[in-house]
Amino acid sequence: MNELLRTAIIVEHDVFAVRQRGREVAAAIGLEGQDQIRVATALSEVGRQLLARLGPVAVTFEAVTDPVDSLAVSASAPVPADGEVLKRLLTEIDGARRLMEAWRIDEAPDRVTVVMSRGLPANAPALTADRIAELRVELERLQPSQPVEEFVLQNQQLLAALQEVQGHRDQLLRLNEELEETNRGVMALYNELSAELEETNRGVVALYAELDDRSAKLRDASEAKTRFLANVSHEMRAPVTAILGLVRLITDPGSDPLTDEQRTQLDLIGGSAQDMLHRVNELLDLAKAESGRLEPVPTEVDLSAVFGALRGTMRSLVSRPEVEVVVEEPVGLPPLITDEVMLTQVLRNLMTNGIKFTLRGEVRLVARNAGGDRLHLVVSDTGIGIPADEQERVFEEFYQVRGGAHRGVVGTGLGLPYARSLVTLLGGELALTSTEGKGSTFTVSLPVRVPT
Ligand code: ADP
Repeated sequence: MNELLRTAIIVEHDVFAVRQRGREVAAAIGLEGQDQIRVATALSEVGRQLLARLGPVAVTFEAVTDPVDSLAVSASAPVPADGEVLKRLLTEIDGARRLMEAWRIDEAPDRVTVVMSRGLPANAPALTADRIAELRVELERLQPSQPVEEFVLQNQQLLAALQEVQGHRDQLLRLNEELEETNRGVMALYNELSAELEETNRGVVALYAELDDRSAKLRDASEAKTRFLANVSHEMRAPVTAILGLVRLITDPGSDPLTDEQRTQLDLIGGSAQDMLHRVNELLDLAKAESGRLEPVPTEVDLSAVFGALRGTMRSLVSRPEVEVVVEEPVGLPPLITDEVMLTQVLRNLMTNGIKFTLRGEVRLVARNAGGDRLHLVVSDTGIGIPADEQERVFEEFYQVRGGAHRGVVGTGLGLPYARSLVTLLGGELALTSTEGKGSTFTVSLPVRVPT
């Protein structure tokens, strides 16, 4: 126990003396001005109440070092016979609790003790054993002053406290004014912003109206184009079919004999007509897919069988020994319910492209479970690849990568847009990754069940 000073409150006058002691001890130990008054006030308030209700009060000042350096003051008085009295007393002194940092009530059978403490500020000298011994000597030398002096001092302290409160109030008023000023500024800014926002909003609304208008026009134009494609291809199919029929008739073994020259020319006419019919059919397919008149017919698809058929037809298309067609056997996949004809068309289309644009290496078809009820059907090749800036454009109608024709490859530029339309109809997506000179990979991501 590092007791610093012990004193008592026997009669009412002693309250003043003890208050003064409290302030002196607090000052000596290193507490700052406001805290000295807090300690003195708490102690005199507790002392006064204990004396009035319970009797003589023993007061002890102690230097505490654990957990932090602080001053502890305890005021102890005899326990009253009536428990109610103590209870009331403890509520009454509770107000003083706010003045101290720590506050404890010890109730022994015969005495009740209020222990209050406050920590020392960082700049106070540390409470070493030497320092505590020094404090004891210093405090012993202090003479108790007269109650009147303490009373005058107390009044001064009260005045000082009042001034501080007044100061706080002035500061509060100033802050309030500043706040009002700021509020006015914010309101002005807000009004300005609101006006600007309104203006912007009007602009956006107008822009949207224009956008809607343009979208409608674009839709109309797109529909007109689809109708045109459908009409033209339909109208062209009849004469082309007629040419083919006539060529077949003339070259029939039962018909009049032809010279070799005539036969060669007729074969050329037949070949061109066949080629034209193929292109016209492609146009018609695309027009149908885009017009929304094509509806998927979902059935459970035997992917293994589809792959088997593709393996056969695609291999027959390869004309170079340096190119291999690999169709991996699909395994471990969930049942697939989709339009088999459309799916086959898409895969055939992608693989034909792969074969067309691959000079050596392989064209590969793989099916993978993509999770989340989706399948990935991946067609990859080790061909010429597609430049990054043209990878989106190849899905546009009639688009062909620049320089493609020079490589002696023929086509219409309708295959990929058609494949993408079909995949969309099946509820999926068609994506492309490609590196020029290395190859391309087309991924058909399909739901395992075509949405209806
Ligand atoms: P087509 O093949 O009839 O020209 P597509 O729409 O199928 O039309 O393809 C458009 C263009 O995209 C092709 O002309 C070609 O330039 C490019 N392309 C398509 N597939 C591949 C591929 N696997 N490798 C390289 N280029 C490709």
